[in-house]
Amino acid sequence: MIKENLARVHENIKIACQKSGRKPEEVTLISVSKTKPVSMLKEAYQAGSREFGENKVQEIMDKYPQLPTDIRWHMIGHLQRNKVKYIIDKVCLIHSVDSLRLAEEISSQAEKKQVEIDILVEVNIAQEESKFGTSREEAVQLVEEIAKLPHIHIQGLMTIAPFVENPEDNREYFRQIRELSVDIRKKNIDNVNMSVLSMGMTGDYMVAIEEGATMVRVGTGIFGERNKGDYYGNA
Ligand SMILES: *Cc1c(COP(=O)(O)O)cnc(C)c1O
Repeated sequence: MIKENLARVHENIKIACQKSGRKPEEVTLISVSKTKPVSMLKEAYQAGSREFGENKVQEIMDKYPQLPTDIRWHMIGHLQRNKVKYIIDKVCLIHSVDSLRLAEEISSQAEKKQVEIDILVEVNIAQEESKFGTSREEAVQLVEEIAKLPHIHIQGLMTIAPFVENPEDNREYFRQIRELSVDIRKKNIDNVNMSVLSMGMTGDYMVAIEEGATMVRVGTGIFGERNKGDYYGNA
């Protein structure tokens, strides 16, 4: 079933790309495997997935040694500073950096482990109180400050759009994120790349791609619904 789901998502990515004159190779599909057991990740791996997204440090640490080493792990959830040290040398990209203090800790842990780490700045574009992320207004300044830190490299922006029934309702937010990334790129800040836009989930990834997403994070659409009984007991 996972194999079929993945095929369908890839097909939808193609359709969204065709619709917007983009190439499917420009869009990376991240299989969001949070709360799902290792057996299901292995199934996705067998079907070709190499990019997996998790939102809990503990879960990455549990799954990491049980799966092939050519997997690229994405930290997509809120990250506490005291846990940065556990994943700094395991993940390829931290999507959820929303404060200078967190970035400073990431930079200092990367220095300790002698690694370079790529990150995205998370923007709370709809200004939902329930969500993490910097505001659109503060994003530029945050990018400028993080850019000065060693061992940490900004690759772009990430956003979690509101939960909506009609994905069209989020189109304007995706457009705003893209616009913001263009504004930041124009500033030509040293050590800042704006090539990644991580936006779009199961309910709205096609619209996100039409608006410029280069990474989409799809969980339910690949692994099925999450519920309280699953693996880590939370979604
Ligand atoms: C859970 C999660 C997703 C995937 O959500 P689905 O709706 O299941 O596709 C994407 N991004 C983040 C940050 C998440 O926490």
